[in-house]
Amino acid sequence: MSGFRREASDILDELDALRSADAPTHGGRVLSYVYDSGLAALDELAAEAARRVQPVNGLDPTTFVSVAAMERSVVGFARRVLGGDGGEAEAGRGEAEVVVGSVTSGGTESCLLAVKSARDTWRAARLGSPRVPRLVAPVTVHAAFRKAAHYFGLELDLVSVDPATGTLTPAAIEERLGDDVALVVLSAPSYPFASLDPVADVAAITAARGIALHVDACIGGFALAFWPEPLPAWNLSVPGVTSVSADLHKYGYAPKGASVLLTRGRDRQRHQYFATTGWPGYPVVNPTMTGSKPAGPLAAAWAIIEALGEPGFTELTAQAARATAALRATIDGIEGLRVVGSPTGPLLAVATDEDAPATSRVDPHHWADAARSAGWQLQLQPGLGQADGTRLPHTTHLTVTPVTERVLPELVAALVSAADEVRGIPQIDGGAALAGLVEALPGFVGDDGGLSALAGDEVLAGLAAGLDSDGAAAILGAAGLLGGEGALPDRLAPVLALVEALPGPLTERLLVELLARVVEPPAAVGR
Ligand SMILES: *Cc1c(COP(=O)(O)O)cnc(C)c1O
Repeated sequence: MSGFRREASDILDELDALRSADAPTHGGRVLSYVYDSGLAALDELAAEAARRVQPVNGLDPTTFVSVAAMERSVVGFARRVLGGDGGEAEAGRGEAEVVVGSVTSGGTESCLLAVKSARDTWRAARLGSPRVPRLVAPVTVHAAFRKAAHYFGLELDLVSVDPATGTLTPAAIEERLGDDVALVVLSAPSYPFASLDPVADVAAITAARGIALHVDACIGGFALAFWPEPLPAWNLSVPGVTSVSADLHKYGYAPKGASVLLTRGRDRQRHQYFATTGWPGYPVVNPTMTGSKPAGPLAAAWAIIEALGEPGFTELTAQAARATAALRATIDGIEGLRVVGSPTGPLLAVATDEDAPATSRVDPHHWADAARSAGWQLQLQPGLGQADGTRLPHTTHLTVTPVTERVLPELVAALVSAADEVRGIPQIDGGAALAGLVEALPGFVGDDGGLSALAGDEVLAGLAAGLDSDGAAAILGAAGLLGGEGALPDRLAPVLALVEALPGPLTERLLVELLARVVEPPAAVGR
């Protein structure tokens, strides 16, 4: 080939232009999704390491032996800092309890594989059982476990938590245990409220009954491992914990595409693998969900670990911890807001202080929108009704990274003035938002012109089942959520109000439509 159709520089200029519309990945202005160590040299090192393995196929670590070497090294580091190294021999549990692991493409894949291993371990012990295995977890468990239950055919049994604190008692888990439980999952800490679940107490209960216990430390693992204050035991140092997930692309500061899943016991972990020789091609042996896979994220994570070592992680974690404490103090000092429960690790959730008089209350979603218009992106989380009839408050989430400490004065000022801007403005009435939406939909208003017959939950839920792509797009259009360039509206509080008011299946169908249409190429004109 004699040349490219376009100049490389021209293509990259276009990419830069596209990237300029993204939320900023560095500098601490986005308090979710991105984890900025604040060390440009570390990002450079990670990029160069990834570039050097760019052509490698991680599918076969016997052909590309660098992959095996780096994975051994990263798993070894994770095992050491997540409590998986010691104790077995002394405790007389021996080799059967050795902790092994895999590097996966991210937290979701680590969680999916933890569930698959547990399901298949459970099945192997009950050959021929027609029963559907059950997964027990607090309702605060990451959505990845809903996905895992869905993909792998487990019944999901979610336990309600205390709406004031986001935590639960070990007894609440114990009540749900039975022979059909293939796995209990706890979080260290949970994403929505940063609550640290009672790992040691639950582990004592599950271990006594021979039930597997996964600790999802995807977000917090590599921060809690270096946390400056003492914490209750939460990792593989607790004997009954059978697996732990921790994301390298969160507080391991690696580019996206890297997480670790550690599993106690080789035999348990071998259920994670898929192998087949039953086709005319090469023998397939996959430890993770993918076949061919990049080695770049692994190489980047490996290089970062080599560069930082435990002292580097300790220093970065201390920065994030100081910034988290400062933000907590700031929010405690803002009239009308409160921090939910007692968050553990570098994240927290903020709710309305219901003890304040109505005129002084601050709605966390209006607050987030006000902060957003000042250039700070906080993450809105919907309220949620629980099985026990209580309701978890709607909140705003902040993930704090080492770089947050550098922008703390500006951030604190922005959070305080955002609260001043919206103090006393009540939470958006989801029911009213819903009625407005229904009214905007011509075809939905019955002959009598009334909404009464349409606003019922059942009707709306039924609507989701029968909704096709164009119908969903029409509803999104009526809500003003479709038609742009895929950018979010300026204010998210009204969107979240709809999310809270609409029945789950309908919201989910609408969001699928929204995200699908965002990546749909424009219609081809002619042929
Ligand atoms: C981020 C996260 C996950 C899922 O991780 P992804 O990397 O986004 O796939 C799972 N559990 C918790 C607690 C998380 O914060």
